[in-house]
Amino acid sequence: MDCGTRRLTKTRLIDSDCRLLSGDFLLHEDGSYSISKGHEDVVEEISAENRIITRSFQNWHTHSAMVLNKSFGEGLPLMEWLERAIFPVEKGLTPEFVKIGTLAAAAEMISSGTTFACDMYFFPETIANSYLESGIRAKVCAAVSDNDEIYDSKSALINIEKLLSSEQKSSDLIEFGIGPHSIYSCDEETLIKSSELSKKYDCTLSIHASETRKEVTDCYEIHGMYPIEYLDSIDFLSEGTICAHCGWVTKKEMRILSRNGAHAVHCPTSNQKLACGGTLSYPAMKDAEVSVLLGTDGAASNNSLDMRSEAKTASLIQKHDHWDASILNPEETWKLATNNSKDWITWDLDDIRLRPWGEGGSRLLPNLIYSGGDILDVFVSGNAIRRNGITQTINEREISEELENLVKDYYDS
Ligand SMILES: [Zn+2]
Repeated sequence: MDCGTRRLTKTRLIDSDCRLLSGDFLLHEDGSYSISKGHEDVVEEISAENRIITRSFQNWHTHSAMVLNKSFGEGLPLMEWLERAIFPVEKGLTPEFVKIGTLAAAAEMISSGTTFACDMYFFPETIANSYLESGIRAKVCAAVSDNDEIYDSKSALINIEKLLSSEQKSSDLIEFGIGPHSIYSCDEETLIKSSELSKKYDCTLSIHASETRKEVTDCYEIHGMYPIEYLDSIDFLSEGTICAHCGWVTKKEMRILSRNGAHAVHCPTSNQKLACGGTLSYPAMKDAEVSVLLGTDGAASNNSLDMRSEAKTASLIQKHDHWDASILNPEETWKLATNNSKDWITWDLDDIRLRPWGEGGSRLLPNLIYSGGDILDVFVSGNAIRRNGITQTINEREISEELENLVKDYYDS
């Protein structure tokens, strides 16, 4: 399908400011929109009476290929789940497995309106190529872990430096980054090297931090500091560092995140499913002026990569935990989940879940978050990667079969 400006007529549009507009709109390649006068040169005109156009979702923490582990190790808490279910099967991972898992994950994200993923997993070149094929944006953070038997942390760091220093850039949509797994699976030298490398190449640094109470108490026992304090003490954190979870952090640690310009990624479904007993406190993070983002985590600890559903869960858990129904209202929840997206999606307005629209469409935004609907189109940089409910870049039926066969052969045999 052609790349360029598209005209959508007789429709509704909600941009990042959450205002509902009606009319004919042009969606441009650079991610901007304008009102159409009807005569502009476009690659496609879409009669969009039954659609609402919105910004797409941004998934700031995931492990895409862990779709392979979905519904695997059910009922186990995090550390047991990792040690008994996940780490043993990850020893047999191959690039082919990661390719199928990443494409399946990307297909799920596209079908639910997500156009960006901050990923952390093994075989970063394979992940990058799979995202490239899917047409969505990604930060591909190479997983680094000292207890990993796929390749050790030293080899992982050498490999990622090779990718980062390569002159060739395959696409403007894909960037490489570094993902030291956690303070309990990387020693101090690995953490420091990862951070130094991210500063040298000005790339994303992503880590799991303060996900469980055990991680926090173990860290205090060993270092006399809590995890974020410890990371700060070794100069790990810098502008843009991604700290996933942050469910067990002190106010002092929040101030450290804020001072360093690090992001905290809320992953409320994963925290609940793995019985972490704590999830990020949005109001406290906001008070400390920490940049908070939203992510699904891997499908293995969520069972879904649907950011609409994650946005609903985030809003509900924050209201519930703080006994305050005004926290994360629809506008703020929407901004958290779409976070300056440059891309567009359209929803099927005929979907019964989105009714009633209310006077002037006033109920549409809350309904999009709390009730959900079907995604008809997805536009990234002028490319239509989904049209009329069918993803154009990945054959969903074929990738589903490949995923099924792989899981039967390797995981369930
Ligand atoms: Zn994770």
